[in-house]
Amino acid sequence: MGIPEPQFDDLYRDLILDHYRRPRNRGRLAGATVHAEGANPVCGDEVLLELRLEDGRIAQAAFDGQGCSISQASASMLTEHVAGRTVDEARALAHAFEEMLVGGAPPGPELGDLEAFQGVARFPIRVKCAMLGWKVLEDALAQVGRKGGNQ
Ligand code: ZN
Repeated sequence: MGIPEPQFDDLYRDLILDHYRRPRNRGRLAGATVHAEGANPVCGDEVLLELRLEDGRIAQAAFDGQGCSISQASASMLTEHVAGRTVDEARALAHAFEEMLVGGAPPGPELGDLEAFQGVARFPIRVKCAMLGWKVLEDALAQVGRKGGNQ
């Protein structure tokens, strides 16, 4: 490997490992209206994200992929957090997550248990792992804009 591992508080480490071992919303999404995928070649992480949009809201999200625990747990938690949100709300959440990881901002209440990834901010090479799913989400949401809104 050779990539430094962030040290997490026990609570956060357990949460991340739990999502890695038992990913939520993993697999293909029936009736998906948007697909996007991305990779983090530095670590070998891959994430495919599918969303089903209804009336400008993300009714359901699912992901598939492979890679390190941080990338896969982040994508798993992403699918839980964006379900039920509008496109704008999901974009705002992705922005807040990036602000915490890249900008070093303290996590706001909207991030909820995503604050588990705050410790990753000190490891720029792992920030790419945690951000991968969220970058793919931004690509997916950009497609929604190009399609003119709702599906
Ligand atoms: Zn990784």
